[in-house]
Amino acid sequence: MIPVIQVRTLAAKKSYEGRLAFCFVPEDGLLDIPYTEFAAPVSAELHYAILEDNSVEVEGTVTFTLKGLCSRCLEEAEQSFSGDVFGVFVEGEGDGETYGYRNGAVDLTELLKDAVLFAIPSRLLCGRCAEEEDL
Ligand SMILES: [Zn+2]
Repeated sequence: MIPVIQVRTLAAKKSYEGRLAFCFVPEDGLLDIPYTEFAAPVSAELHYAILEDNSVEVEGTVTFTLKGLCSRCLEEAEQSFSGDVFGVFVEGEGDGETYGYRNGAVDLTELLKDAVLFAIPSRLLCGRCAEEEDL
């Protein structure tokens, strides 16, 4: 489950930063490598900070494992990947550089989707092929 950052509630408690660690199942269609799927839910570790203007900075990492058939030799393959998460949420509409939020609550879904998409490789390699490519 992707938690929601209750900005209004947290700010009222003067709790302006915190950490979140959770797992979530990525939406279908995120992954377009043939014969490949997420081996398990994606795990996320995030730090957030609520700034004076009520914008919220979120940063951290997502980690996930893909399993399927090696894109080179079609043997079974499993590889882990991680990617950076960074986003700024502003009240109201985002402007392309920032994400928007409404009703005093930040929904992290879009940010996490972007982070996972960015971290997904163009193909999956088994251990042997990955080694050969490194030579
Ligand atoms: Zn291979």
